[in-house]
Amino acid sequence: MHTIEHTWVLRENHENQPVRRYCSNCGRTVLFFDTNIRRHNANGKNIYRFAIYKCEKNHTWNEKLAIYKAFTDHREVPDTEFGEEIAPLPILPLLEYQEKGVQEVTIRIESTEARFRLDKLLSEQIEGWSRSQIARKIKDGQILLNEQETKPSVVLSAADIIQIRIG
Ligand SMILES: [Zn+2]
Repeated sequence: MHTIEHTWVLRENHENQPVRRYCSNCGRTVLFFDTNIRRHNANGKNIYRFAIYKCEKNHTWNEKLAIYKAFTDHREVPDTEFGEEIAPLPILPLLEYQEKGVQEVTIRIESTEARFRLDKLLSEQIEGWSRSQIARKIKDGQILLNEQETKPSVVLSAADIIQIRIG
């Protein structure tokens, strides 16, 4: 089976801190706010991830968050060069995976520093699936935790393994 594996370290979200920097459109230093929108650019074997920030006058600044290599031996290898420690978790582009024939995504929870519910975390990290769709997939057994059926409200622990069937 064509599987992609991710390892996640779950941290508290600090993404709402404004960033002070020069806005070339405003012509002065202003505060930029994280829109919580993430953009992905695929370029050959690399995927680039950006956070979209806006100043008060709605000018955009894209912060490059991470670059990660895709589909090396059917695995996605995170690149630590861009400071993985402060980068948010990558969004799972499941539709893109599906188009490439991936049937299952495995996520290993390396560690967790807060309480993360399975359904909430996945709805934040999966592009294109709503929280209720995810809850249904958990109930239908298309999303497993440690190879067993579970509840959407389950709280994740270190060493948990989430399997998502997308094929
Ligand atoms: Zn501006």
